[in-house]
Amino acid sequence: MSHYKVIIIGSGPAGLTAAIYTARANLSPLVLEGLQPGGQLTTTTDVENFPGFPEGIMGPDLMDKMREQAKRFGANCQFEVVVKVDFKQRPFKVSTEDKTYTADAVIISTGASSKWIGLESEAALVGHGVSSCATCDGFFFRGKEIAIVGGGDSAMEEATFLTRFASKVTVIHRRDDLRASKIMQDRAFNNPKISFIWDTAVIDVLGSKETGVTGLKLQNLKTKAVSDFPTEGLFVAIGHKPNTDIFQGEVELDATGYVVVKPGTVSTNIAGVYACGDVQDHHYRQAITAAGTGCMAAIDAEKYIEALESEEKTTQKASV
Ligand code: NAP
Repeated sequence: MSHYKVIIIGSGPAGLTAAIYTARANLSPLVLEGLQPGGQLTTTTDVENFPGFPEGIMGPDLMDKMREQAKRFGANCQFEVVVKVDFKQRPFKVSTEDKTYTADAVIISTGASSKWIGLESEAALVGHGVSSCATCDGFFFRGKEIAIVGGGDSAMEEATFLTRFASKVTVIHRRDDLRASKIMQDRAFNNPKISFIWDTAVIDVLGSKETGVTGLKLQNLKTKAVSDFPTEGLFVAIGHKPNTDIFQGEVELDATGYVVVKPGTVSTNIAGVYACGDVQDHHYRQAITAAGTGCMAAIDAEKYIEALESEEKTTQKASV
């Protein structure tokens, strides 16, 4: 079993920023990168709003640079997936498929994933006309008619963004009232390329890997009427799910599964366990805010370890 002062679980902007800071503090952190090394930004193209890159930078390049920077100061980045944690005993235990590590402090930065409707046909056609990322895939729908599911800010933002490429965007929402903020609603309502289908669920995605998406089967939730809707693409923008399954029962989560942190901090209910980035933030969800909270987690972990070590020294002196 290998022991580390700090283990960072997850490798998006939050985790890798925490790695840079803890590595520079000589804590030699272990970063267990997880299923999607680099996090959600690796599925985006041009990142235009990360400060310091006036010409923009490709998402995967930005994450590679962050990893390089962390390694330069001694971070040990491993492409391993954590399957279990034990925060009930100290040092904390963090297990992957093959190994169990121990740590004095743990930084949770496992991020969030897009939610899907849950249809078999939807899963089968991801990458063949079904997408959850307008920024990544919008370009492929130049001149096409496409549909988007959802009624929140993400759906309105993505619908508006997609009109740069698509000839027509139809928003399909399960109610007749949008959840999105007024300004985002107005932007979508005023866009001549966007139209709406209300009170309706997508119950099947039509097409194949060969043809791509050719249409949707829709059901009006009030009348129960089923109809076919021709379209060449489906974007799903129904929110995100924090990646916290492995933390159930180990750290406090809210009703929607986000890690609860003390307001204005990155401290969880377990001393020595910190959470940063999208796994604890359903509001801002930006690379720069994730990086900011990653920095906070690193500084707090460093102080925690310092206190722990000076406590150990005092105990050793007292017992001599
Ligand atoms: P959200 O606010 O939770 O909205 C999700 C939408 O998807 C809702 O309209 C919901 O319908 C619908 N939905 C959920 N599950 C569904 C399902 N299984 N089938 C069909 N429809 C389903 O999520 P979000 O839009 O991703 O926004 C999350 C947070 O990020 C919000 O706080 C938002 O303000 C923020 N955000 C802000 C911006 C911005 O300001 N630029 C951009 C994006 C996101 P119901 O309405 O019926 O529940």
